[in-house]
Formats: sequence, structure tokens, C-alpha cells
Amino acid sequence: MTDLLAMPDDALVRVLALLPPREVFRLRLVCRRLRDLSLHPDVWRSVSLRGGDQGLLQAALRLAPCLRKVSLRSPHLQAAACTVCNSKCVVTDLKLSVQNETDAAWATAIVQRLSTLGGLREITLLLNPAAPDALHPLLRMVYCVQDLRVLRIRINSDMSELPPLLSDLEPRPSLTTLHYEGAASDPFLCFLLRTHAATLEDVDLYLKDGLPTSLLKSLPRLRSLTCFPTDDLSQLKSLPNLETLGLLDLEVQDAPCPGTVDFLLQGPRLRHVEFHLKPNRPIVGAALLEALAQSPSAPVLERLSLKGVGEWPVAAALHRFPSLQALALVLDAMPSDDFFRAVSPASTPRLATLQLVPHGCPHAWLHDPAVQDVLARNAGLHLRLSGPPTLEDDCACRWCLWRCHRDELRTHAGLQSAFSAHTRRPGCPRDCRRWL
Ligand SMILES: [Zn+2]
Ligand SMILES: [Zn+2]
Ligand SMILES: [Zn+2]
Repeated sequence: MTDLLAMPDDALVRVLALLPPREVFRLRLVCRRLRDLSLHPDVWRSVSLRGGDQGLLQAALRLAPCLRKVSLRSPHLQAAACTVCNSKCVVTDLKLSVQNETDAAWATAIVQRLSTLGGLREITLLLNPAAPDALHPLLRMVYCVQDLRVLRIRINSDMSELPPLLSDLEPRPSLTTLHYEGAASDPFLCFLLRTHAATLEDVDLYLKDGLPTSLLKSLPRLRSLTCFPTDDLSQLKSLPNLETLGLLDLEVQDAPCPGTVDFLLQGPRLRHVEFHLKPNRPIVGAALLEALAQSPSAPVLERLSLKGVGEWPVAAALHRFPSLQALALVLDAMPSDDFFRAVSPASTPRLATLQLVPHGCPHAWLHDPAVQDVLARNAGLHLRLSGPPTLEDDCACRWCLWRCHRDELRTHAGLQSAFSAHTRRPGCPRDCRRWL
């Protein structure tokens, strides 16, 4: 303790910021200097607390000047709402899970108080089934928060009958990221898109029923869009800054929808595309990838992440993406030798990262001749294992029995390395590790 107190204030604050919040409160009782320094904003700026840490959260809301994130759900909303009423603690990121009308009322009070204190930049709302009238005050309060940057909402109710939000409440455009899961493009979503049209850059819409295309077309800074494949996409071909597209699967889709194919064929110049499709409908994935390979995006595409597209369509299309730098694949079996042969300096000269899910023992997989061969032929390539990969303690594969590499791969970090055929050089990821 004497050593600790010999440190200058700024160093001591940095040490306190590394301690668990409970320890910071304990140290606060030691002396006047620690009592004052323990409430320095830098000590609390990165701290995240949940309603389940009840005593700790109450103390932090009463004493700390700020918190990074607070997550609350039943039955902790009421206690937090009562504490927040008299709090001066600025919370940057707020996550609320609302189960019923009472929760919605407490959540509204929390948003109102934290919004008044300023500094609220991110809100996540998980709203379980409730009448639109019960959620209206909460949505209205969230809509009025000034300078909000990120809003994520999951609504499990039909909000098409939501009463209008009063127009005199309109906040300044500030949202850059909007993630919205709902049944359809309801009035609240339309309000958000209209109000924040000038600032929105990343929009994820998990809507089972179409897209609000006319509103999306009016977002001049939109650069990333994630949605279900829908015919409405064909109306978004002219978005000037769209660089990233994520397509999620729709349960009912057995054939590629023409509007999505049309969007991909003629759409904007995309740099990053992600397909997250159901693996049991490979025709959809193959058709969408073929459309992308024929599109103006193909020569400039840099990152491709594919789930639910078989290895053959990918192997056949690789040479159409000459700028590709990163390819991530989720396949339901080990890629064949033919797939690995399709990865070559001639077809993908700029490919720096290939991410695959190992099937079976990852150690044995890294020793597979096809894996070794793809690294040897592609001098700049890094192979990553996704999953996250794990090595079983009692693995009986011959490589684990021989114990080669076993200790170095046993750690999580070891298995998550970027395996390559070169020693680390400028431009390599920090965890580049020579495997051959
Ligand atoms: Zn093994
Ligand atoms: Zn080994
Ligand atoms: Zn490297």
C-alpha cells in the first residue's frame, strides 16, 4: 500500500482503472487521497456493469462520474430507475430488456434521466411482446435522445399501429448505426430513417416483410446494409456509397429471389459481401454468388464471407475476384483437395487471409497435405481457423499422439494464429506464425 501511495496521481489513476470496480470501492476507504482519486472519470470510463451486480451497480450509479455500459433487465429495472433519479453518473452505452408494461415504464424513466445527464451514445432495446401503446412512451423517449450514435432494437410486437410520435420532438440527425429487428417497416423505423437520413452509415434491417426502399434511397452516407434477400433490393441499385452488403437467410426461400439477383448483377461497387444462408438450400447461395461474380463489384471486391454456399461454386468463382484479400467460408465438411487447388496466385493474387472451420482435430488438419500445399503455393497467405477452434486433451490422432506442436497449439491464442509459410514481415497480422 505504501508503494501504491508513493505513485503520482496520474499513475495511480491508471492502476485503479485496471482493478475490478469492487476493489476500487474498497480502496476508497483507505485514505482521503484514494477516496478522491477512485472517483476520477478515467477509473470508470471503461467499466461495464449489469443489473445482476446489484449492490455494485447501485454504488457506481450513486458515486462514479461515468460508466461505459449498463445492462438491465427484469427484475433490476425498478431499483436502477430509482437510483438513476438522483444520479449524476454519465452512461455511454445502455442496454435494456423489457418484458412487460411495468418494465417499459421503468425503462422510460432510466432513458429520460440518462439522456438529461448527457453522454448517452448507444442504446440497445430488447422489447418482448407488449401492446404498442405500452411501448410508445419508451420509444418516444429513445427517439428524443440527442446525439445518439448507435441504436439497436428488437421488437417482438406488431408495431404497425404505433401512435405517431409528436413532430415537435424531432432530434438533430446523429445516428450512424441502426440495427432494427421487427415484423415490418413500422412507423417507428420510418421515423428513425427519416430523422437520421443525413448521418446514417450502417443499417441492419431484420424485417421479414420487405424493405423501406424509398427511405433507404434517401440515405446519402449509407455504406453498409444487412437485410434478408428481397425483391425490394433491386430498387437500391443506385446507392452511391454502399460498400458492404450482408444477406441473411429467409426461412421460406427455396430459390434466389430475382430482385436480389438483379441488385447483385447491376448494383453498386461492393468491397465486402457476406452471405449468411441456410446450408440446406445450396442453389440459392450458388446463384447469388454467380450474380456477384458477374457484377461490377467482382473486380474490386476485397472481402467475402460465405455461409451456406457450397465449395464448388466458390472454387469456380474465385478467379473472378482478383482483388480479394480475405475469404471466410463456413462449410459443413472439410474442403476437398480440388478446392484448395483453386486457391492459387493466378486466381487470387492478393488473398492474404483464408478462414475455414476445421472439421475433426485442428492439429491434424493443419498437417493435412492439402492445407500444407495451399500455404506453400501461396506465399502471402494466412490460414485462420474459425470456430473458435479447440484441441481435445485426449485427442487420439497420430499428430497429437506424437505430441508435435501440441503444447504450442494447446493455448487458445496458439490455435487462433494466422498460419503461413513465411516468417512475419511488414504488413503481416501480429499473430502471423510460420507453420511450414
Ligand atoms: Zn489431434
Ligand atoms: Zn504437429
Ligand atoms: Zn504473415
